[in-house]
Amino acid sequence: MKKDYIYNVIKNSQTSLTAEDIYNNVSQNIDVNLSTVYRTLNNLVNKNLVNKVVRQDKIAYYELAQDTHKHYLICDKCNCAFPTQMCTIDKIANKIKKETGFNITSHTLEFHGICQNCLKNAK
Ligand SMILES: [Zn+2]
Ligand SMILES: [Zn+2]
Repeated sequence: MKKDYIYNVIKNSQTSLTAEDIYNNVSQNIDVNLSTVYRTLNNLVNKNLVNKVVRQDKIAYYELAQDTHKHYLICDKCNCAFPTQMCTIDKIANKIKKETGFNITSHTLEFHGICQNCLKNAK
């Protein structure tokens, strides 16, 4: 099934993928068009199997939905995204919640810089 192919591509990826990335990968194996990929992705997001994350570059990236939330280190050279589970924002959010009464339910945070590969290649 097309849905399983698309889900597996996301599942087996070390990093989050755009719809185009997924399409390029899946279309090598099965006959599929980009609008089907988008439709399937929306479907997976609605079922909470996949998370859609819109980054500061306004592009939507897809990743497997997990209990632990992640933030990404984004390389400004190659646009690779490396996940990190390091996050102390929840502590800060709790403090803000107490002080302001604002019910914070989520946060976004992105780190930008140059990845190790690009640093190596620059030498
Ligand atoms: Zn890089
Ligand atoms: Zn966080």
